[in-house]
Amino acid sequence: MRYVSTRGKAPILSFEEAMLTGLARDGGLYLPETIPQMSHADIAALAGLSYEEAAFRVMRPYIGDAFTDTEFQDIIARAYAGFAHAARAPLVQLAPGHHLLELFHGPTLAFKDFAMQLIGQLFEASLTRSGSRVCIVGATSGDTGSAAIDAFRGLEAVDVFILYPHGRVSEVQRRQMSTPGEANVHALAVEGHFDDCQARVKDMFNDFEFRDAVGLAGVNSINWARVLAQVVYYFTSAVALGAPHRKVSFTVPTGNFGDIFAGYIAKRMGLPIDRLVVATNQNDILHRCLSGGDYTPDGVIPSISPSMDIQVSSNFERALFEAYGRDGSATAQLMDELKSGGFTVSQGALEALRESFSSGRCDEDQTRAAIRRTWNETGELLCPHSAIGVHVAEEHLKPDVPMITLATAHPAKFPAAVEEASGQHPPLPAHMADLYDREERITELPNDLGAIESLIKERTAH
Ligand SMILES: *Cc1c(COP(=O)(O)O)cnc(C)c1O
Repeated sequence: MRYVSTRGKAPILSFEEAMLTGLARDGGLYLPETIPQMSHADIAALAGLSYEEAAFRVMRPYIGDAFTDTEFQDIIARAYAGFAHAARAPLVQLAPGHHLLELFHGPTLAFKDFAMQLIGQLFEASLTRSGSRVCIVGATSGDTGSAAIDAFRGLEAVDVFILYPHGRVSEVQRRQMSTPGEANVHALAVEGHFDDCQARVKDMFNDFEFRDAVGLAGVNSINWARVLAQVVYYFTSAVALGAPHRKVSFTVPTGNFGDIFAGYIAKRMGLPIDRLVVATNQNDILHRCLSGGDYTPDGVIPSISPSMDIQVSSNFERALFEAYGRDGSATAQLMDELKSGGFTVSQGALEALRESFSSGRCDEDQTRAAIRRTWNETGELLCPHSAIGVHVAEEHLKPDVPMITLATAHPAKFPAAVEEASGQHPPLPAHMADLYDREERITELPNDLGAIESLIKERTAH
């Protein structure tokens, strides 16, 4: 299996190379050269399998000869062993024809654990074999950082440094980053906003001397291996509701477009998906773009669903590449136009996008109302992101097609917003009930590249 860049000018890579590289050298994102197909019989045969066995069958064609079958099965087993639910991604019913896919039973209570736990094991297996080490640096507004720290804690071949905006993540998110005691993971509280953290990470990747000295690697949501891990639960949930013998639709609370793009890949592989519904909060650039074709960022307004407070949705580039018939130079041109303000999707490409994707937006009051209503009607307590999905899904229900809404985080990760909306305090699940008693380890740093780089150099000098 070979991987190509969305901008058409970077070297073609293997799965392992694409995974370790993350971003392509031409600034693009990697995609498989051809999308593997699963037949009607292949999909039907997933019924009743464990999550791990289904994951192996869905992902196997993508990894080429990077790992033997046994190695890959072991990697998958280790990745999901720490989940608190035997089904890994259980479905619960909300209403006739409407189901919730609970993706929050991983160690840090958000769907990002599905991809990050797998990528941790993939990195470890690959680096141990080659005898090399990498230093993963990432910026987070909360969920990605906690998922990365948990996934890489204690691994031999990897150091992890997560920059988060000091005082601007929730207490649960901060504690999930600061309480793991392993020496190879580091939570760095940087003075400033999320954008400052992200900018410093970009600066480090552009500082080639530093980059080579520490062996910098990235695991942000554009990493193909993360998208791939997320394809699996589209298959397992659709099959549980009758696919491939009938169609299903999905609604996905969306920010960087990584999770819903995995659904698009599942559809392209042969899963009978009717609609993929993009649900946005008040930062609704994707909804506006899918409605009218205009993609012009206009500043982030902070919301009670912070993991979706995004204006430049990085994985959308992959969908554009497909909608433009895999034309790398057309994609590169759109991204250039974005740098100088924005772009308009061509009529043909917009029609191509709309063949798969629908969209809707949910404002702050509607989010709170959806939390309250769902609690009253079903006893299910939603996090604000998942509530946005439920609100938008309800506008897209069709009589004969089951709708699956992705629940992307556990309500206890966002207790203040949930309690305000529902009057219910969401308790932490038993496996992390002592989170508030564990000792924290945080390094505070100024928003200064030199200071951040010297700390990382010092701590990686083994
Ligand atoms: C990351 C995240 C999202 C958005 O997912 P994307 O893949 O960036 O679209 C939604 N909800 C929660 C809770 C998240 O952590």
